[in-house]
Amino acid sequence: MADGNKETRRRFGRRGRGRSGPKAVEPATGIASDAEPSGEQGDVSGIAPKDQVAVVCSICQKQIFDLSSALAGRDGGTPVHFDCALAKASEGEPLEPSERVAYVGRGAFAVVEYRDKSMTAFTIKRRIQWEKEGEKFDWRRNIQKRLGL
Ligand SMILES: [Zn+2]
Repeated sequence: MADGNKETRRRFGRRGRGRSGPKAVEPATGIASDAEPSGEQGDVSGIAPKDQVAVVCSICQKQIFDLSSALAGRDGGTPVHFDCALAKASEGEPLEPSERVAYVGRGAFAVVEYRDKSMTAFTIKRRIQWEKEGEKFDWRRNIQKRLGL
């Protein structure tokens, strides 16, 4: 039987250039986004989510560059990648081939069932609340302030 096997391929793990190797210290070139503290203190326990500090996803431990699309993690509300939250939220959700987990807003995902291939019409089968509803997070408030929301 020709069943279109579900496409779970994701463009994950973009392996950029390794971040090892000596790097010449250059005079400020515009945005210094990859400023890394000396690799000496590799212990990241209790990092305060401040504005200029690199924010690390508490699920995959990688840096979050786009905080505006980040969600709050379930453990303590520190930001996590949207994709990581999605993956976690989908964990343990048995999905039919026509079902998917999608973000439905207000800090919640939901198992949705698409009715056609264009994926425009769908029904929400069950909600997966991710962030506590109505909870405010400092790091988010900072972005919202910056975006003028
Ligand atoms: Zn992550």
